[in-house]
Amino acid sequence: MTTADILQQLDTNHAEMNAAGLGSPTLDAFFNEVRKQVAESPDPDGTLGAIAQLIIRECSKNDRCPIYRDCTETGPHYDHSGFDLLKVMDETGRGTLIDAAMVVASGEESRATVCLGDAEFSDAASVRRKTAELRVFLDQVDELADRVFADHEGRS
Ligand SMILES: [Zn+2]
Repeated sequence: MTTADILQQLDTNHAEMNAAGLGSPTLDAFFNEVRKQVAESPDPDGTLGAIAQLIIRECSKNDRCPIYRDCTETGPHYDHSGFDLLKVMDETGRGTLIDAAMVVASGEESRATVCLGDAEFSDAASVRRKTAELRVFLDQVDELADRVFADHEGRS
């Protein structure tokens, strides 16, 4: 599309929005700014595309869950969840060694759950007890590895 075609299309869209009762000084300012950006651009199609991408990104941001910061659901929703929030991958980088997620199902007995691997926890204190145990466990795994590989070296 030429710059003139795009500007014509923008004017048509603007007129249609005004006709639909969406007119406002803010809308006029928006269309004037887009017109200016497109008219001054050496790549009017690219500029219009970039503006559209920006609008989509902003809208999806505003679409984010208003209740749970870690909920990844967008738009109107009743069940909240966030999967793949945190994870440690295996050596291949393809498999998940351990991951964490959050789920809050709606309903009468709505309760929040944090998942660590396949285990589910219903309060922060329980999560902290298990992660403390895991920290100790991970140190023990390091020590196990040191022993096994040292013994293996000694054998050969
Ligand atoms: Zn949510």
